[in-house]
Amino acid sequence: MKTVVIGGGAAAFFAAINTKEHFPNSEVVLFEKTSKLLSKVLVSGGGRCNVTNSETSISSFSKCYPRGEKQLKKLFGTFNNHHTIKWFESRGVELVAEQDGRMFPKSNRSQTIYDLFLSETERLGIKIQLKSGINSIKQEGEKINLEVNGQNLLFDKVIVCTGGSPKLEGFNWIKTLGHKIENPVPSLFTFNIPNENITKLMGLSVPNAIVSIQGTKLKNKGSLLITHWGMSGPAVLKLSSFGSRMLSDQKYDFNINISWCGESNFEGVKEYFQDVIRANTKKKLFNIRPFNFPKRLWSYLLQRSEILEEKPWGELGKKQLNKLVQTICNDTYWVKGKTTFKEEFVTCGGISLEGINMKTMESKHIKNLYFAGEILDIDGVTGGFNFQAAWTTAFIASKLN
Ligand SMILES: Cc1cc2nc3c(=O)[nH]c(=O)nc-3n(C[C@H](O)[C@H](O)[C@H](O)COP(=O)(O)OP(=O)(O)OC[C@H]3O[C@@H](n4cnc5c(N)ncnc54)[C@H](O)[C@@H]3O)c2cc1C
Repeated sequence: MKTVVIGGGAAAFFAAINTKEHFPNSEVVLFEKTSKLLSKVLVSGGGRCNVTNSETSISSFSKCYPRGEKQLKKLFGTFNNHHTIKWFESRGVELVAEQDGRMFPKSNRSQTIYDLFLSETERLGIKIQLKSGINSIKQEGEKINLEVNGQNLLFDKVIVCTGGSPKLEGFNWIKTLGHKIENPVPSLFTFNIPNENITKLMGLSVPNAIVSIQGTKLKNKGSLLITHWGMSGPAVLKLSSFGSRMLSDQKYDFNINISWCGESNFEGVKEYFQDVIRANTKKKLFNIRPFNFPKRLWSYLLQRSEILEEKPWGELGKKQLNKLVQTICNDTYWVKGKTTFKEEFVTCGGISLEGINMKTMESKHIKNLYFAGEILDIDGVTGGFNFQAAWTTAFIASKLN
């Protein structure tokens, strides 16, 4: 049996290695368009490669995929993050979890993953051909005909792992096979907030903010990071992922509401403040920081509510208190534009899952043709979920069922 894996990224290597392990007598070849292998793996997670996430329940894990949740939930029954951890560990690469669940190689270097994949392909005798972009795929009886470097080659099985494309035209060669393509748009980006003083707080992180997109049900609670151009951090990145298509349609021009204290119930927050006032009548506002707000944030919120920091708590009038509570639990910002999140970005969209047998990853249009990785209309939030989708789909495709 001759199998070809198209691509030289995470999904392709995982597919090639596992195919050879499942079918030791088969010939496995990997074709990569460029002269480089595993480029994204090397830069991933800021050079540390966030391989997967330690989240324990399959149900919660699957919820981290705005596209592909339902299908992945089933696939995780066969190959999930625990399998990933064992897969790497059994090959000498220990993965270590950080407090937020992200898992990295113990070395903290992406190079470790790169080296492992390269040594595994060598050990298994997988052939790698660089500068070999596939231009077309055709079915020829039971076999598949690939056009590469001006030649036409026949294979028994083909696994396509060519990654996402920011443009629809990038999928033209697949479209001709009868597969529907979901329009690609960016996911995982940060919000630009022009003309606002908030960016003066750059570098400040608020652990439990609630960020919501006005006029939608999209809402997320988590850590919010102020940057010199706007807002980032897990709370924002998750929203960018779940709202990616809608925000693209809105041309990245929308309003967000923020609860800085992680509670959006106005009356509840007001009661909390009334207790603070009773306990600190004579003390100055800047000396008592509610919700353990960082000093710079508290000072900013008072300024934004047009209240003097020097004022004693007991002299806070009813109108001022309402304004302060409003700022703290329902602050509004205009977002205009987005910025690429350098540590991880992915494309939402790609090959529609409708045309794929989601038990085997085989094309419903062409027999013996399989898909894995970011080329599919599957993407996750930040935290190791995108690589996990690549490992899972590649492992299942490598069974060639
Ligand atoms: C900067 C950055 C950091 C990231 N960090 C993380 C992280 O820490 N954790 C995480 O989970 N996710 C991360 N991601 C996302 C993750 O890298 C991707 O989801 C993952 O790499 C997808 O793997 P893939 O193999 O499907 O595609 P890719 O990695 O894009 O690989 C596709 C390969 O196919 C080749 N190719 C394309 N067309 C052809 C063709 N016609 N013929 C032959 N070869 C072709 C390409 O040249 C490429 O080498 C990051 C992404 C970026 C951009």
